[in-house]
Amino acid sequence: MDTWKRYGEKEVSHSMAHYLQAVAALKGEKGFARVGDIADRLGVSKSGVTSMLRTLHARGYVDHEPYGCVELTEVGRGLAERTESNRRVLQVFLTDILSVDESVAEEDACMIEHLVSPPVMLELLRLTSFLRSDAPEARAFLESFRRGGAACVGHAPGGCDLCGPVCLRDALSPMAGETLTRIDDTPR
Ligand SMILES: [Zn+2]
Ligand SMILES: [Zn+2]
Repeated sequence: MDTWKRYGEKEVSHSMAHYLQAVAALKGEKGFARVGDIADRLGVSKSGVTSMLRTLHARGYVDHEPYGCVELTEVGRGLAERTESNRRVLQVFLTDILSVDESVAEEDACMIEHLVSPPVMLELLRLTSFLRSDAPEARAFLESFRRGGAACVGHAPGGCDLCGPVCLRDALSPMAGETLTRIDDTPR
């Protein structure tokens, strides 16, 4: 479909999400967020902060307060909190369920925290929460999943039912390092 065309119009950019999170964090830690503090926290220039704040204000995410402090609107605070929570859940899913390295998980969770839609995030939360529970089915699933087996069950010569044009097992394994290359073709 035309999803990729709409990408640029997505309401929140990655940097917007992080600016909002920085304001929320500063408010929590110090009780206020000043332009200079935001700049320090994010490692950007004050003028960069000022121009981003203009964008965030135009979108109704922040208000300017007297004395150079920045206040989140209710919508802005909601966004800051949601994107941060998204990142946490994504990171737990990647490390605890998929056993991805902490550093890779941290980076990937950060990259998509503002892009995942609420329905997808909710189901991912449900799945993560279930698989981390003590339910015997969850334990059995994880054990069997971690034992390995075929990296892609749709794999077939000349095409792949699951992956399409190229089987990701072949395309990605060399790029993913030992985590994936350790997986054998045959289920054990
Ligand atoms: Zn991020
Ligand atoms: Zn495949």
